[in-house]
Amino acid sequence: MSKILTSETWEKLRASGARTVALQFPEGLKRRAPETAAALKEAGYTVIISGDPCYGACDLATDALALADVLIHFGHAPVDDRPGVIYEQVTFDFDPEIAERAISLLDQGRPVGLVTTVQHAHLTDAVAAVLEARGFAVVVGDGNARTPCRGQVLGCSYASARSAGTSQYLYVGTGVFHAIGVGLATGARVVALDPYTGRAEEADASRLMRRRFVQIEKARQAKTVGIILSTKSGQRREDLARHLASLSPAADIICMREVSPDSLLNLGYDCYVNTACPRLAYDDQVRFPVPVLSPPEYEIVRGIRDWDDYIIDEI
Ligand code: SF4
Repeated sequence: MSKILTSETWEKLRASGARTVALQFPEGLKRRAPETAAALKEAGYTVIISGDPCYGACDLATDALALADVLIHFGHAPVDDRPGVIYEQVTFDFDPEIAERAISLLDQGRPVGLVTTVQHAHLTDAVAAVLEARGFAVVVGDGNARTPCRGQVLGCSYASARSAGTSQYLYVGTGVFHAIGVGLATGARVVALDPYTGRAEEADASRLMRRRFVQIEKARQAKTVGIILSTKSGQRREDLARHLASLSPAADIICMREVSPDSLLNLGYDCYVNTACPRLAYDDQVRFPVPVLSPPEYEIVRGIRDWDDYIIDEI
């Protein structure tokens, strides 16, 4: 039996009565496909693997599901309750004592909101216990339908940070994007802790904000505007796209599945507004030939939002 499939998932699979199973892995887990398929075939199932890119549960392999009885989606918590999908979250362990490395950067005497990604959410209470042993009051907020684990944040949702309501946060995870997002969503100070290396640093949004300012200013010169509407299951924001298109006669809605530099270059608009995964505009701007703004940034360009009301885009 493949280790990536938990007994709970085998149970759900048996209960579903499925004979053909589609598998979808995020990029970092795709290499587990052959061993997982082998385990399922040995148990008598027919297997279909989705080879398309996958970055979140917002992007379910509906094409593969159409060829199977159920889809097992690995690596993410559910963002909707579509029937026929079994979610296998996949956890990554670390030593909770690593939280000691962040303590010198946290203010004693103020509660700490604890946030993390879904892969580490099972260790939230253990990390909280380390901080509490050092005298901190720790608050772990509830998420929303998109972030069902306590303390979980996504690049498109910081609801659990907001619900913690603290003036400082500890983000446990790799990279600083989520930590910067928590800071922009809450206005609070955020310390980012890499659970594998133990590196702790205060998240600094100023570089990102300077880069976004430059793109907003460039976009003011645009004569044509493409409003990107994603066809992915959990990224499709049709009402928002229509609202943004209504702000200028120069704007057209463009629906697409994968947003690539080449596709934007070939379409030839002077600027784009991204209603798909919010990380596209923030993380990937350097790859795109023209400004790709978030919806709130485009509202600034159109004069219906002030810079002082800058907010990070969330779904
Ligand atoms: S929309 Fe983006 S950040 Fe949100 S779950 Fe999907 S890939 Fe992740």
